[in-house]
Amino acid sequence: MTQRRPLVAANWKMNGVLATIRPLVRDVLQGLTEDIHAEVVICPPYIYLSEVSALLAESSVQLGAQNLSQHGAGAYTGEISAAMLLDYNCRYVIVGHSERRYLYGESDELVAENFVAASNADIIPILCVGEQLQEREAGNTEEVVARQLDTVIDKAGIDTFAKAVIAYEPVWAIGTGRNATPDQAQEVHAFIRLRLARHDDTIADGIRVLYGGSVKADNAKELFSMADVDGGLIGGASLQADDFLAICQATR
Ligand code: PEP
Repeated sequence: MTQRRPLVAANWKMNGVLATIRPLVRDVLQGLTEDIHAEVVICPPYIYLSEVSALLAESSVQLGAQNLSQHGAGAYTGEISAAMLLDYNCRYVIVGHSERRYLYGESDELVAENFVAASNADIIPILCVGEQLQEREAGNTEEVVARQLDTVIDKAGIDTFAKAVIAYEPVWAIGTGRNATPDQAQEVHAFIRLRLARHDDTIADGIRVLYGGSVKADNAKELFSMADVDGGLIGGASLQADDFLAICQATR
């Protein structure tokens, strides 16, 4: 079995201004001791990529974006291309976050196109999948996650998953303070790996599957101790350096 290096990614969403972002990055960098062996990624709002890129330049912390356009360039007002993200050293990009899917109507197909745009530019996509509460209650979690995953596999090809990350984020757990139990998370993470293994065992074994949804300093260790949970995508708790650092520590 492959040893997967844990990854903890901060999704700041639409939070922070320069006056808060600068001290937040400084405190995170100061607190990241060498015994934290997780890879750490920060995904600020687009407009702060330049600033955060400069702040992270001498560090081991990677920069990520929260989304990208499926297009390369052109008349797409308000959109940001993969090439633009590369200008600021973005190594990762979140695609298909549930807020994009459900607040901004991103379809499975669009998410797959965004995934392809990232992969083609050699930016590692963090593909978010996850069911809504009514889907879980109706017993459809696996069906929903499989559909979201299969659309990307069909469009991008399984080989692109050799350089990708998946985040399982049950929508009912995001920003609600209600996290999936470690067993609930493990069950879906194992399912995701099995789904990929239908196409390629090695890729399924090597890919990092993060859990996201109300991860906090006090529940991270339990969640990250599950066999198929390789770290977390962290929203609210990534806005406080101490909380975020404690979550990074919990991957040990
Ligand atoms: C997220 O935005 O991906 C997320 C998991 O948010 P939170 O940690 O606040 O639930």
